[in-house]
Amino acid sequence: MNIRIFVMGLIALSSAAACSVVEDARITEFRDGKKAAVSLTFDDGPLDHYTMVAPHLDSLGIRGTFWIVGYEIGREDYNTFPRLTWEMCREMSDRGHEISSHSWTHANLTTLSEEELREEVTRNDDAIEAATGKRPITFCYPYNARNELVARICHEGRVGTRDFQESQGQANTHSTPESLRAWLDKVIANGEWGVTMTHGMQYGWDCWEDPNVLWDFYKDLASRQDEVWIDTFAAVTSYMQEREHCRIVVRKYHKCIGIKPECDLDPALYREPLTAEVTVDGRTRLLSFDPFGGEQYFEL
Ligand SMILES: [Zn+2]
Repeated sequence: MNIRIFVMGLIALSSAAACSVVEDARITEFRDGKKAAVSLTFDDGPLDHYTMVAPHLDSLGIRGTFWIVGYEIGREDYNTFPRLTWEMCREMSDRGHEISSHSWTHANLTTLSEEELREEVTRNDDAIEAATGKRPITFCYPYNARNELVARICHEGRVGTRDFQESQGQANTHSTPESLRAWLDKVIANGEWGVTMTHGMQYGWDCWEDPNVLWDFYKDLASRQDEVWIDTFAAVTSYMQEREHCRIVVRKYHKCIGIKPECDLDPALYREPLTAEVTVDGRTRLLSFDPFGGEQYFEL
């Protein structure tokens, strides 16, 4: 779905020198006019997200989103299921990955009182912020379980929650090179935002007998970045919200183009630049602008 944006070309009233009409302008569906978007997300905080997954993503220049269960971080009593430490979370965050919340104890939130629910959410946010310096602005429901109260509380102060996902794994999901490729082809063909869900690599639910299948998929994904915007869950969902809540007025001045945005979201929470596709004098360009930045000017 393309959103038509208000376009206002200023027509010179008396002098031919001042301005001409901007033919067309819109905010693109995804950043830089990409056809589709993918967010790679990883659940439950197993140690191999640090030892295996993050290094692979780093080597391809891709950022992932890691959903953390604070109570289990650094626990040493899980011999068969070693976990991340807070120090590892901080390192991954510093490298650009999103460290976000999967609740404090991985409880089924639909079974809790409102007070218990708030404790699950706030305690995990506090712990993640203390470790990384960044308060989570997204949320992933344990067991994907939610009701109206859970959804309302988990949305407070956030840009989005994970409401759908494509499971990728081998022990349960039986992902193959062909199934992973077919999913990506579909996401691109339909111009969608695809969100993956992956658990432990070597142990735990849905682990991988052959991790190379996943690494090859990431290589394939990274090679298609002319079509796909790959970014964290927070970045893509923020962009999509801003796109829906932002209107632009585009003017052609004597020597520049002006983009004047109006966005009714909270600038403390939404920080992603938007992309405008602007056609002036028969030439179409992609221009990145700050949706809260007042009128911004670009050379003709
Ligand atoms: Zn989980």
